[in-house]
Amino acid sequence: MNTRTAPPPFAARTSAAGGSVIREALALTARPEVISFAGGLPASELLDAEGIRAAYDHVLSEAPYRVLQYSTTEGDPRLREAVAARLSARQLPSRADDLLVTTGSQQALALLATVLLEPGDTVLVEDPTYLAALQCFAYAGARVVPVPTDDQGIDVGALARIVAEERPRLLYLVPTFQNPTGHTLPLERRRAVARIAAEQGLWIAEDDPYGELRFRGEQVPWIASLDDAADRTVLLGSLSKILSPGMRLGWLRAPAALRGACTLAKQALDLHTSTVDQAAAAHYLREHDLDARLALTSSAYRERCDVMLGALAHALPPGSTWSRPDGGMFIWVRLPARYDAIALLPTAVAHDVAYVPGAPFFAGRGDPATLRMSFAGHGPEQIEQGVRRLARIFR
Ligand code: PMP
Repeated sequence: MNTRTAPPPFAARTSAAGGSVIREALALTARPEVISFAGGLPASELLDAEGIRAAYDHVLSEAPYRVLQYSTTEGDPRLREAVAARLSARQLPSRADDLLVTTGSQQALALLATVLLEPGDTVLVEDPTYLAALQCFAYAGARVVPVPTDDQGIDVGALARIVAEERPRLLYLVPTFQNPTGHTLPLERRRAVARIAAEQGLWIAEDDPYGELRFRGEQVPWIASLDDAADRTVLLGSLSKILSPGMRLGWLRAPAALRGACTLAKQALDLHTSTVDQAAAAHYLREHDLDARLALTSSAYRERCDVMLGALAHALPPGSTWSRPDGGMFIWVRLPARYDAIALLPTAVAHDVAYVPGAPFFAGRGDPATLRMSFAGHGPEQIEQGVRRLARIFR
């Protein structure tokens, strides 16, 4: 009568979640006096709250019963047209039908993992790479193999070797203003990546949430636009860093069969991305000059990046190195080998400044002397003040 049997344990894949020490330390950065360089958030004060509110107003008054209803899994045709036009304008000819709207590009990663990976399959990633992509592949039961990188991104010689040895199904890359390093892969290496994928038969996921935040230099063509890789590259994009992350709007552009499989997987996951959010974004893109706003955002980010680079030069201990990005939001720092950025984080937070330790971004053994700093979220004075606080801790 009174016997109670515990329910079964969670699936083994739930143990994929990690990094609790860092999560606990970063939870303390909500205090207003903390200058946090840890977040991956775009600058709040640069979001076009007024324009976005007007877009929601418009679609809710013009077509309330369309935008408050269920809609198709593929996504709002107007939004897909607007995104396709932006891709085409940047030398990647695209039609609305080439795109699947996703609930942020994070969902596109989950869809690709579902559609392409059996448990035990091998995925290659840059070392280091985007943390939540590692989590996504871990949930899929994939074997994640890191490929070495240098200050220009993935090492294509090492890639060729590792592909031949490991027979991966998928290569995941953030080629432009990478998270966490800020590095951009040059065209020659993109060509080499495309050639390797073509010769060895693998899928490429080209994740590009930051590419439109360029503040120096010229756009480098997407891998998806190179002939060798066109039939096997999925380009992931997002409005998170260029319009609003809270709207949760992204997309994937993929060859037809793969796009179809992702569409069915999405149907099982969430039926479709929010109708009203898609409609508001489509209206916004039609009515506003997003490129003009991006020019303002990028120039603010350039100033913040340069201020941080200047301040770091005085603050970091001798022997440190750091990246000099041409866009995006992140600078990657490598302290001298005796430093441990995870161990130092609680001290930093106690001194009202925060960063993200770099080690969790590595698929293999992480380098404890690395850390990621975002320059996007604070103005120049706060950046200088925050870096001065860091200097006291690192010295
Ligand atoms: N990919 C990369 C490389 C990212 O840095 C992020 C967010 N920080 C994402 C994907 C997910 O972005 P979202 O789901 O907001 O589009």
